[in-house]
Amino acid sequence: MNSTSLFSLETPSPAYICPFDQACSYLEAAAKELRLDLGILEILSRPRKAITVSIPLKLDNGDVRVLAGHRVQHSDVLGPYKGGIRYHPAVTLREVSALAMLMTWKCALLGIPFGGAKGGIAIDPKKYSVGELERLTRRFTNELIKDIGPSVDIPAPDMGTSAREMAWIMDTYSKNVGHAVPGVVTGKPLSIGGSLGREMATGRGVMIITREALSDLGKSLKGVRVAIQGFGNVGSAAAHLFQEAGAKVIAVSTGAGGLYAETGLDIPNLKAYMLENGKSLLGYPQAKPISNEELLQLPCDVLVPAALENQITEDNVNAVKAAIVVEAANSPVTIQASLSLESRGVTVLPDILANAGGVVVSYLEWVQGLSYLFWDEERVNREMEKLMVQAYRHVVEKAQQRQISFRLAAYTLGVGRVAEALGDRGLY
Ligand code: NAD
Repeated sequence: MNSTSLFSLETPSPAYICPFDQACSYLEAAAKELRLDLGILEILSRPRKAITVSIPLKLDNGDVRVLAGHRVQHSDVLGPYKGGIRYHPAVTLREVSALAMLMTWKCALLGIPFGGAKGGIAIDPKKYSVGELERLTRRFTNELIKDIGPSVDIPAPDMGTSAREMAWIMDTYSKNVGHAVPGVVTGKPLSIGGSLGREMATGRGVMIITREALSDLGKSLKGVRVAIQGFGNVGSAAAHLFQEAGAKVIAVSTGAGGLYAETGLDIPNLKAYMLENGKSLLGYPQAKPISNEELLQLPCDVLVPAALENQITEDNVNAVKAAIVVEAANSPVTIQASLSLESRGVTVLPDILANAGGVVVSYLEWVQGLSYLFWDEERVNREMEKLMVQAYRHVVEKAQQRQISFRLAAYTLGVGRVAEALGDRGLY
């Protein structure tokens, strides 16, 4: 039997850094800071619901494969569950559970009325045809039909998924309930109620938080040297906006390797090259090839891991030379590596703050959909920027007040708001 058909609770290797254990450690640190009641901590340590379904998929060649799909709903204390759907070979129930928990704190930190969820299927989407991906996504949606909905749980894109998959989810859900329900997903195409600004939102938020942190250090983005690991939705949007703001993007990468240019890459030109080159950046003539490991170790001002978890670990943290690390991906820096960076005076801008731009615009998309009133891009960006800057300021204030790291300050704010709401709602 193929291991991906099991429910992904495989025994990890000794080197495995469990994302759920890491998420719980951050929660425990925040709980200590907040002197949280142990019963509340216990409730918040567990997902409210973890769903694993089997998805039979007929391949184009007629063969059938059964894949495991997960949806973990961590908390709906503040509102409907909200979180992305990831298609990536490394997806496990542990990973999805950790990411669902991060979503809860992220929404609370940003002051948006959502709880946290996440979903995923352990596949490499590049190995499937569009038809296979559509059948897979529609069947996954069908299996989750009673667990999602515009006031229940609202999926969005994440690694390996995009507006296309959201449209399939929306259509399948709508066919099942008998009428169009655009609000069941966010990050969908504009033609069915998507929001202007959503595609660039996470990258835009990364740029805004970096700009604010630089400004507190008396600097601006102009001339700042930025290295970005991952050139997908988040990394490429951030690269584009960093360059537009006057920064020099000296390196970017994908899973297949990266590029380095001392004087800065021309991002629109690189994107055009990738479009012509089957989405690969390899062979781009105006830059030198580098590995992902080399990218993380480049002398630069700002390092933006925008790909996967656990990229900066105890093994490579001492080689990181950046003054600011911006967690555009979820959990790209391990706990130990984060402590090591902070002890060296490196500013670490934590994921639940730095990459929240996407969920903020998802919230704005949901609000526009519910009110049947759609805004221009300038308004979406303005509203998003307001919430991002406000959250950044709250984190800085809390960090200064309590003499704690930005990460602990962000978690303390997020966890504290959920705990307070849980206390107000009460238990039965
Ligand atoms: P994506 O699939 O669009 O892009 C991922 C990028 O990472 C691709 O360029 C891919 O080639 C690269 N990559 C894959 N494996 C790699 C490896 N081993 N080394 C280096 N690069 C590798 O995904 P995305 O939507 O840009 O998401 C990236 C990260 O940002 C994820 O951690 C995701 O959870 C997080 N995030 C995304 C959003 C969003 O709105 N899409 C919001 C918040 C957080």
